[in-house]
Amino acid sequence: MNIFTIIILAAILIDFTLGIISNRLNLKALSNDLPGEFEDVYDEETYAKSQEYTRVNTKFGFITGSFDLLLLLAFWFAGGFNILDQWARGFDFGVIGTGLIFIGALVIAKTLISLPFSLYSTFVIEERFGFNKTDAKTFAVDRLKGLLLSVLIGGPLLAGIIAFFEFGGTWAWAYAWIAVTAFSLIMQYVAPTWIMPLFNKFEPLEDGELRQAIESYADKVDFPLQGIYVMDGSKRSSKSNAFFTGFGKNKRIALYDTLIENHTTEELVAVLAHEIGHYKKKHIVKNMTISILQTGIMFALLSIFLQVPALFDAFFMDEMSVYAGLLFFGMLYSPVETILGIFMQMMSRRHEYEADHFAATTIQNPEEMANVLKKLSKDNLSNLTPHPFYVFLNYSHPPALKRIEAIRNTI
Ligand SMILES: [Zn+2]
Repeated sequence: MNIFTIIILAAILIDFTLGIISNRLNLKALSNDLPGEFEDVYDEETYAKSQEYTRVNTKFGFITGSFDLLLLLAFWFAGGFNILDQWARGFDFGVIGTGLIFIGALVIAKTLISLPFSLYSTFVIEERFGFNKTDAKTFAVDRLKGLLLSVLIGGPLLAGIIAFFEFGGTWAWAYAWIAVTAFSLIMQYVAPTWIMPLFNKFEPLEDGELRQAIESYADKVDFPLQGIYVMDGSKRSSKSNAFFTGFGKNKRIALYDTLIENHTTEELVAVLAHEIGHYKKKHIVKNMTISILQTGIMFALLSIFLQVPALFDAFFMDEMSVYAGLLFFGMLYSPVETILGIFMQMMSRRHEYEADHFAATTIQNPEEMANVLKKLSKDNLSNLTPHPFYVFLNYSHPPALKRIEAIRNTI
């Protein structure tokens, strides 16, 4: 058997098995006793509902995961990639055009196949737990806008990468690296002003108690705020959140309208303080630097494997090509990505503690940070007792209880 077949197949199956084991442990860790820390925020019914939400989503994840796995294996071993490639070559559009057809067809097929799952998740599961605010029209328009953006933004990017590796010679990986890095930096500026408003309304936060409290906090910690916006998150879901966009002098904060509705001014300042903590501790710059380095390593490895016929044999291809190589290398690289992802999440969890610490030590009453974590857990029906192994594999944020304990220990 081809060595790449063995490696990729083993990686896929190990990943799937780890998922099953961690999910089982996670379900077993669901405890009927509400952790004491949350007693002032949760009632029995909400706690039971949050556990049911975890159970339902775990089961749903297992079904979609198994379906995707079987579909991929069937397509792969039926020689689907080669059939698709021969079909795409039939249009005679040159290597870039053929590559766009090949990858585009896979993306469209994947989108259509996952559509029923996505409909079920939004209109059955989220609906049942009272989160869903999306109507059929918003759902359809979102999908169409998403598709249009992939064509307009993803298409040229993919064409560029294929062109670099096709015509760039030895240094193709370096050109592709520079281009993708430049692209993602530009997106940091373009996304908040051009792309996000396509999906949501952003209104400047009106003058009043909240705006003054936020501005005076930002002043106190010497953080220049370009704008404070309210985002109509309630258009899709009752879940709440807040986030920063842009960097340098162009920083803005967006608060979900659902967040503002459910929280006091002091709690909202605490949320904001946490987000500012990420900037003050340079987490955003660290993350970007690491991801730029990873991209470089990935493209360098890609340029090596694009020359290896055995990788293409593993997928029963008659002909080698840059575009199919991109896809196959992505599958070969995925175990490395999983391991790197685990390290990135470990770092991300440490960053969350640091941002919490920054918030707790700069707001007037550190208890507000703990309060807001409890209320957000409740509003989003978070799992209060996730299994440590599940957290290790999947969580970018430490569980709320751990964060609250850390806040208590440092103040
Ligand atoms: Zn954070």
